[in-house]
Amino acid sequence: MKALKYEGEANVKVVDVPKPSIKDPTDALLRVTLSAVCGSDLHIYHGRIPGCEGSVLGHEFVGIIEDAGSEVRRFRPGDRVVSSFFSSCGHCYYCRRGWFNQCASKATFGYGVHFGALAGGQAEFVAVPLADHTLEPIPSDLSDEQAIFVGDILATGFFAAERAEIEAGDTVAVIGAGPVGLMSIMSAQLFGPARIFVVDMVDSRLELAQGMGAIPINAAQTEPVEAIKIATGGFGTDRSIEAVGLLSAIETAINCVRGGGTISTVGVPNHTSGEFPYLLAWSKALTFRSGWCNVQAYMRRLLDLIAAGRLKPDAIISHRMKLDDGEDAYRIFNAREATKIVLTP
Ligand code: NAD
Ligand code: ZN
Repeated sequence: MKALKYEGEANVKVVDVPKPSIKDPTDALLRVTLSAVCGSDLHIYHGRIPGCEGSVLGHEFVGIIEDAGSEVRRFRPGDRVVSSFFSSCGHCYYCRRGWFNQCASKATFGYGVHFGALAGGQAEFVAVPLADHTLEPIPSDLSDEQAIFVGDILATGFFAAERAEIEAGDTVAVIGAGPVGLMSIMSAQLFGPARIFVVDMVDSRLELAQGMGAIPINAAQTEPVEAIKIATGGFGTDRSIEAVGLLSAIETAINCVRGGGTISTVGVPNHTSGEFPYLLAWSKALTFRSGWCNVQAYMRRLLDLIAAGRLKPDAIISHRMKLDDGEDAYRIFNAREATKIVLTP
């Protein structure tokens, strides 16, 4: 079958690989009908994630069950499903407490040997472990494009907004208007803020954010913390969400929030450690939340919100390409010439 493989820094290729098969009775085999390229794939593309050489990439995908192991209870061949970007069992210590992203059996699709050595979904087929808990059925009236992002970027945007503790009438700053930042804005709107400021340097992304009701600030032209302070009477926003993955963006998120405010970061940090302004955070009595999304807790209700017309995640898709053109897709997305690219096999 065809699959997109990471071969080394800035080098991905669509190649022929053996078709995966069911190994454990809890596995399902999926025929992929749509996959997407994620900002998290760019960390691999830039050579920042060790152990990815030779991996089939892709952790955002939907498809049709081709085959299901003997212990898969929720799905049978022919069912349309969306996958979380990681697997979870649903019954370990963490899953029973609702922290699926800490599952003892967690593995991330297409993220190399240090994240569970799972082949990804930028391929014609993908094997999904612990299928009953990792997959969610797609309602028949939703398209693949409407459903795909509940397994990663939409769930992450919602997770970011929920953990930012946004209340009706709040002001919110979203740092980064990439796909995750845009999903954070869309989700934040569900909580009823008065104003959302969005910071980025890419005009096309800021325009999309503006279309979702956010106030754009181009950080290449304006100092964002200063602009936000001026617009909020000198205080800063009540909440801030960081959706970039750079320590400098986390710093912006911390600096633009008011005393007593909340910071919610979801970008994958580009460094393992860095300076943290403990005294400032303490004196401002800030709440700081971070982490990878607890996807399995959100997939069902996000599908329901999309079906009800209250979330339109597919609005950010700018490019529809073939898996065969995956090499181009990575180049274009990395250059920020595309907001979001989906691939059909
Ligand atoms: P992206 O790279 O497409 O978008 C990042 C955006 O941030 C770009 O538009 C860029 O112009 C902007 N940016 C860069 N530096 C900035 C700065 N200093 N201030 C403001 N904006 C800046 O990626 P994405 O798909 O939107 O993902 C964003 C981050 O979220 C990535 O780190 C990704 O790995 C991470 N992510 C996390 C989770 C999770 O579970 N926590 C899930 C998905 C993605
Ligand atoms: Zn992702």
